[in-house]
Amino acid sequence: MSWQQRIDRALAQRRAEDAYRVRLPNRGGGGRWLEHQGRRYLNFSSNDYLGLSRHPAVIRAWQQGAERYGVGSGGSGHVTGYTQAHQQLEHRLAEWLGYEQALLMISGFAANQAVVAALASEGDRILADRLSHASLLEAATLSPATLRRFQHNQPPSLAQLLEKPTDGQTLVVTEGIFSMDGDSAPLAALHRLSRAHGAWLMVDDAHGVGIVGDEGRGSSWQQQVKPELLIVTFGKAFGVGGAAVLCSQSVAEYLIQFARHLIYSTSMPPAQACALDAALAVVRSGDDRRAQLLDNVQRFRRGAASLPFRLLDAPGAIQPLVVGDNAHTVALAQRLRDAGLWVSAMRPPTVPPGTARLRITLTADQQPEDIARLLEVLHDAG
Ligand SMILES: *Cc1c(COP(=O)(O)O)cnc(C)c1O
Repeated sequence: MSWQQRIDRALAQRRAEDAYRVRLPNRGGGGRWLEHQGRRYLNFSSNDYLGLSRHPAVIRAWQQGAERYGVGSGGSGHVTGYTQAHQQLEHRLAEWLGYEQALLMISGFAANQAVVAALASEGDRILADRLSHASLLEAATLSPATLRRFQHNQPPSLAQLLEKPTDGQTLVVTEGIFSMDGDSAPLAALHRLSRAHGAWLMVDDAHGVGIVGDEGRGSSWQQQVKPELLIVTFGKAFGVGGAAVLCSQSVAEYLIQFARHLIYSTSMPPAQACALDAALAVVRSGDDRRAQLLDNVQRFRRGAASLPFRLLDAPGAIQPLVVGDNAHTVALAQRLRDAGLWVSAMRPPTVPPGTARLRITLTADQQPEDIARLLEVLHDAG
């Protein structure tokens, strides 16, 4: 089969499975509304949970950073791309989260790839929750280590894997709050088991940081656990983009030597680091925004309990409604779209087969009447 035949066949197969993905250009995301082809939609798909992508102080910090540093960093951090703005943000993040060091990364996807690729060698094993984000599972698959997946949020399943003898090192991997199911990992139990077997725990808290824990310090802080490696991302509650790895001094030094995603890639623009510094201040003092978000979550869950779809046990901003069948899910998303509501349909392979769902996200920007409208259309459709 030629390259072209292979590509055509894969595309045809995706279409046949009702799993074909398209990108729709909008005029400004984030916030309460989203505009697409001249029509306004209530936005129930954004990860901008606290509404910070449009926060005036964050925008101003980005503008001032660009005036001072220019719009690009000019190179990898190992050359000219590490500025005082990057350094200050790393210090603040490390102090905030209680780690010796933070290393900024261009994205959460890159952070997960970088850490796993730099650490894992032949003979090591990576034990990952089966619902871990694609960036974690793919990093593990591409690494020379063996990947084994344990049952979602089941410490006994991890224990079984840990008990098998190994000559190499073991890295246990999980999300803090899961991106597709919205539930929290039992971090204390996972960490206790890992330590008992000399393994390290790596937690990707993309959806927990900024949202849960004192001052938004995230899932591990909330559960009083300090994983050896903590990944936080800034495209969600921080409303910006980028990520950081939190770790010990020596692990940070090791990553600076060996993490190829750091060494061979242009660092984030300094102005972005300035914006993130401003966003961090808003996140830390953001209890009012977090309370608003939680209020919206509870309002939605109360109303959704009587729907004929499975509402997962999710405490935070991500509220999946499992429909099951791909075509049904897409039709339901379309019905919501027609009614002026922007909700994403998630289908396999992003989620397990047979569990296609609406991934509804709530944010601090939404108003009570927005949620009432969503529930009304869902009840009609159900
Ligand atoms: C969004 C997400 C990522 C990727 O982060 P980016 O900064 O968007 O690349 C990684 N892990 C999880 C769990 C995520 O939800």
